[in-house]
Amino acid sequence: MLHEKTIDHLLTIHEIYHEPNVREYARGHEILERYQDAKLIEVVSHNQIPELFGFEGSVEDWLWNKKNVLILGTKKALSARPNTRSSHWVAPSQSNGCTMSCSYCYVPRRKGYANPITTFVNIEQIMGYLSRHAGRQGKKLLPDAIDPEYWVYEIGENGDCSADAAICNNVKDLIGLFRDLPNAKLTFATKFVNRDMLSYEPQRKTRIRFSLMPHAMSKLVDVRTTPISDRIAVINEFYEAGYEVNVSFAPVIYYEGWLDDWRKLFSEMNEVLNDEVKQQLATEIIFLTHNEPLHNVNMLWHPKAEEVLWRPDIQQVKYSQTGQRNVRYKNNLKRELVDELINLCTQMIPHCQIRYAF
Ligand code: SF4
Repeated sequence: MLHEKTIDHLLTIHEIYHEPNVREYARGHEILERYQDAKLIEVVSHNQIPELFGFEGSVEDWLWNKKNVLILGTKKALSARPNTRSSHWVAPSQSNGCTMSCSYCYVPRRKGYANPITTFVNIEQIMGYLSRHAGRQGKKLLPDAIDPEYWVYEIGENGDCSADAAICNNVKDLIGLFRDLPNAKLTFATKFVNRDMLSYEPQRKTRIRFSLMPHAMSKLVDVRTTPISDRIAVINEFYEAGYEVNVSFAPVIYYEGWLDDWRKLFSEMNEVLNDEVKQQLATEIIFLTHNEPLHNVNMLWHPKAEEVLWRPDIQQVKYSQTGQRNVRYKNNLKRELVDELINLCTQMIPHCQIRYAF
């Protein structure tokens, strides 16, 4: 069973940091039963574990931590944040952190790189909040670029839901909830193929977005993720299993010969995806942004990737909404690159709607 091996390769939980009351929740109890051999370490709060978070001092350990450590806690503040472009709302997270280690990942910008998965065990409260929130929105009356019919909730902003689904049923339960909500749909982007999710019966009320980029680049920067060809190969099956399946071209990284590699990727998509899938396909195009502290720490463990990610000669500073000093491609260059990739999409994958590109 290939997928079992893949999940085992990704996660072998040996240590669980947990808030004192997680056993009081059915999900917490279930997870602790599942990983009975793991060493338990009680902590006051899931986000106060200095030996696990941050950039300092963990560089040799963080891949080990991401594979072997799980954190259990409860999500305290439940709120849905208004969003634009790929969803109307960002749902309160059912987890944060990730077992994979993409060099450009923005999750460590807040939490530091050694950020193993934190699973929130109060999933019933999270789902109750979401039901009430969706209920208050009423029927969505006008189609828009996000969705023709439903309010869309993003659930994967702080991690990768397909990897989370290898730990417990939080994602399965959310997919079940949205299947039954009359006016709402959920969405998340992923870089991991978890075939167990083919049995979740989303009935087109979950939009999964497989992140794609040229193979060679993905091999360099998407550390511990599912290979690109395997992500493309499973798209038809996810559609048949009831998902709306989109793709996400993110992050787009510029290098000598980049467009030729995108051409090959689009050819592969055209060969593999069936007509029904192509007719419902949409994408977002998001060019790379990077971050100085992340660059500095990446130099300590994966400097090769930084040769393509950190390019001061063609990048400029951009302050984020939270005041972080990030970099992105210089305006003039970026405009050209965005146009070139959009043109290539229009030529080679004209059936694929582009939701937005920047
Ligand atoms: S899969 Fe997503 S969340 Fe995980 S490391 Fe990669 S970019 Fe970050």
